[in-house]
Amino acid sequence: MRRYLGLWLAALLVAVVVLPALIVKGARIWRSPVEVRTEERMVRLYDHVRGEIRVLPLEEYVAGVVAGEMPAEFEPEALKAQAVAARTYTLKKMEEAREKSDEKHPNADVCSDPTHCQAWIPQDALRQRYGWWRASRYQKKIREAVEATRNLVLTYQGQLIVPVYHSNSGGRTESAEAVWGYDLPYLRSVPSPWDREAPRFRNTVTWSLAEIDQKLGVNLSALPAAALTPPKGQAIKVEEYTPTGRIKTIKIGDKTFKATDLRRLLNLTSTDFTWRVEGDRITFISVGNGHGVGMSQYGANGMAKEGRNFMDILYHYYPGVKLEKI
Ligand SMILES: [Zn+2]
Repeated sequence: MRRYLGLWLAALLVAVVVLPALIVKGARIWRSPVEVRTEERMVRLYDHVRGEIRVLPLEEYVAGVVAGEMPAEFEPEALKAQAVAARTYTLKKMEEAREKSDEKHPNADVCSDPTHCQAWIPQDALRQRYGWWRASRYQKKIREAVEATRNLVLTYQGQLIVPVYHSNSGGRTESAEAVWGYDLPYLRSVPSPWDREAPRFRNTVTWSLAEIDQKLGVNLSALPAAALTPPKGQAIKVEEYTPTGRIKTIKIGDKTFKATDLRRLLNLTSTDFTWRVEGDRITFISVGNGHGVGMSQYGANGMAKEGRNFMDILYHYYPGVKLEKI
């Protein structure tokens, strides 16, 4: 019996010390990509795809927003700028939710619907989008961008800013005033020449006259072709431009539209557009992609490619703001 005692003791050591240590270490390896810290803020997210509320640590949620809002192949500094914008937006929404709950999701701070709050995707969606190999590489890249900017937010005069962003400004960003009618000092128009190099800089959409009539409640198809062909034809006519040269209001048939409404109704990528009429079809050619206010994501990537860091990017697109730790 005594000669087995050593073996028994060794087995006991493995069972009591070594195995639990390995399990704990293993658990750490398979834990969520962004380290959860005890003091971390939690975000109540309404997952609009599943129709349920998830409660996530702030930084883990921010990583899901960066994955949902910006192509993961973008430069690390652009991803960091996106992470700061996403975090600032989230904290602002959390602040608002404490005062008054959101009508669309009264029990959550934010939702994953990009048309309402900001896009957010879970990790498995990243794997579906890119495949296992690329997804794990991108996950690491996103996690590093989030970690490198942990707790950093943008403020203006001590308040969290409204950090809106868009895909591609077309060469110059737009002021909030021109698009939404309210002036914010850090959402003024700034040059964004990097956007001209971006793919999908110019986008076309073609509709038949009958489709336009139906979508806009006008009657273009009843008009002679000459009425539609500029410069003599006045059936479609820009009434007002914004200071950066985007269309503000436009007359179509007998109705005047805000260009922002027309963009939504006709699926145009921006309000900086021209058009051409061919037979009974109209093709709209838009420059840039998005409302054009705040940070241009392709511009951010262009700046990063030139060696600028995420702070340069944020200070450029949101002039006058401060980067602060929460
Ligand atoms: Zn929402």
